[in-house]
Amino acid sequence: MLPQGVELCAVSKFHPASAVKEAYDAGQRIFGESRVQELLEKIPVLPSDIKWHFIGHLQTNKVRQLIGRVSLIESVDSIRLLDLIDKESEKVGVVTNVLMQLHVAREETKFGFFPEELVEYFANREFENLKATHICGVMGMASNTEDMVRVRKDFHTIAATRNQILNIAPDLRGFDIVSMGMSGDWQIAVEEGANLVRIGTAIFGERQY
Ligand SMILES: *Cc1c(COP(=O)(O)O)cnc(C)c1O
Repeated sequence: MLPQGVELCAVSKFHPASAVKEAYDAGQRIFGESRVQELLEKIPVLPSDIKWHFIGHLQTNKVRQLIGRVSLIESVDSIRLLDLIDKESEKVGVVTNVLMQLHVAREETKFGFFPEELVEYFANREFENLKATHICGVMGMASNTEDMVRVRKDFHTIAATRNQILNIAPDLRGFDIVSMGMSGDWQIAVEEGANLVRIGTAIFGERQY
């Protein structure tokens, strides 16, 4: 299904641990959750070699509960959050892997950095102040629209921003992940350079909210 070099994050939010286990038994190892409480309930009842990705908006008062428990926080959407993740990680002696979330979609979410904001962060080399956080790349969502020209353009902007950052800070190490594409648009995302896709509905079915 996915081309070589593209990893799948199976988004299990709102689905029970039994559904995760079923996908695990079929070989899936990376799972994505968007709520801290739900994730913390699933972790202890599922195999310990699962790589959990946090993909939702992370409130600063919940950061501490996540540190040391996830393999990647995909949704860092403010410098304040990033600095807090760094501080808490240093405190417990772990390195936390994160992605910077870009805001390119029209009105879909109010969260994330505008591309020029994120470029500026790296141009100013503020990342050098991080002590226990590794920025592994970028994450983003396309506009929720039938207009596939627009969707492609959004994905293009996300991938291009990552490349622009690498041009500005060529000494960045491991800034490799471009996480974009969901059930309805992952093919376009892959065409535009995604190497991590986050798919929920197409794997687990519709969510019961
Ligand atoms: C829920 C969610 C997904 C998965 O969406 P589907 O349309 O169910 O594939 C992907 N990314 C994020 C950030 C999500 O919140």
